[in-house]
Amino acid sequence: MLEVFDTVAAMKAWARGRRRDGRSLGLVPTMGYLHEGHLSLLRQARRECDAVVISIFVNPTQFGPGEDLASYPKDLKRDLALASEVPVDAAFCPTPAEMYPEPYFTYVDVATLTAGLCGASRPGHFRGVATVVTKLLQILGPDRAYFGAKDAQQLAVIRRLAADLNFDTAIVGVPTVREPDGLALSSRNVYLSPGERRAAPVLYRALQAARAQAAAGERDAGQLLATLQSTIAAEPLARIDYAAVVDPVTLQPITRLCGQALAAVAVRFGKARLIDNMLLP
Ligand code: AMP
Repeated sequence: MLEVFDTVAAMKAWARGRRRDGRSLGLVPTMGYLHEGHLSLLRQARRECDAVVISIFVNPTQFGPGEDLASYPKDLKRDLALASEVPVDAAFCPTPAEMYPEPYFTYVDVATLTAGLCGASRPGHFRGVATVVTKLLQILGPDRAYFGAKDAQQLAVIRRLAADLNFDTAIVGVPTVREPDGLALSSRNVYLSPGERRAAPVLYRALQAARAQAAAGERDAGQLLATLQSTIAAEPLARIDYAAVVDPVTLQPITRLCGQALAAVAVRFGKARLIDNMLLP
C-alpha cells in the first residue's frame, strides 16, 4: 500500500519509523509526470532498499523567470498509480508553501560545478536543485538516493553536495532510459510538436557520432565538439544551446581525451529545451 504524505512532519515521522525498524530506505526525487526513466530509478531502488519513497514536487526554486514552472506537466493521480505498481512504499507530495514556508532564507550553492553547461543558461537552477535535495535528504535521511545519468550535471552536483556536506546517503546514478529512436525520456518531451519530435533524436545521433569518433581514436576534443555541433546544426528545427566535451567529475572543458570524457548537449526545439549526454571511451 502506497502511503501519501504532504507534510514534512508526517513524512519525517514515517521515515524515522522505517529507520528505527532497521530497514534501509531509498529515495527517488522527481518532479512527477512519471515516465519509464523515473520508473527505472524506482525499480532499482526497490531492488536495493527495504523501503522506497518517491518525492513528487515541482520545485519552484529551480525554475528561472520565464521558464516553464507554470506549464510544467502534472498528473498526480497517474503518478501515484504508476508508483504503486513498482511498488513504492511512500510518496512525498508537499506544496511549495510546505517546503518553503515564509519567511524562507536558506539556500545551498555548489560552486564551480554549476558555472558551465546548464548552469550558464539557467542561472540559479542548481541552487534550487541543491537546496531541495538537501531538504529532502534532511527530511528522510535515506540510505540511498537515486538520480538519472540523463541529468549528468545534476548528478555531479549532488554527488559533490553529499560529499561536501557529509550526508550519510549514498548517491546512486542510474543509466538513461531512451525511446527506441534514441531520444532520452523526459517529462518535457510533451512540449514537442510532431515535427519536433521527429527531429529530436538528433541529440542522440550527435552524441553517438562523437562517441564513434572517440572510439576510433580521435583524442582532440575540438574535433569531437565540431562533430556534435555540425550534426545538430544539420537539423533545421534544432537551435543549439550548448555542446561541450568535459571532464565527467569536474565538468571543466577538456582539450584532449585522456581517460573518460563526457559529451553533453542542450538543444531547443520550439519551446522545449532538451538535454542529453554520453560518456566517451
Ligand atoms: P525529473 O522529474 O525530470 O526532475 O527527474 C527525476 C529524476 O529522474 C532525475 O534524477 C532524472 O535524472 C531522472 N530521469 C529523468 N529522465 C530520465 C531518463 N530518461 N532516464 C533515467 N533517468 C531519468
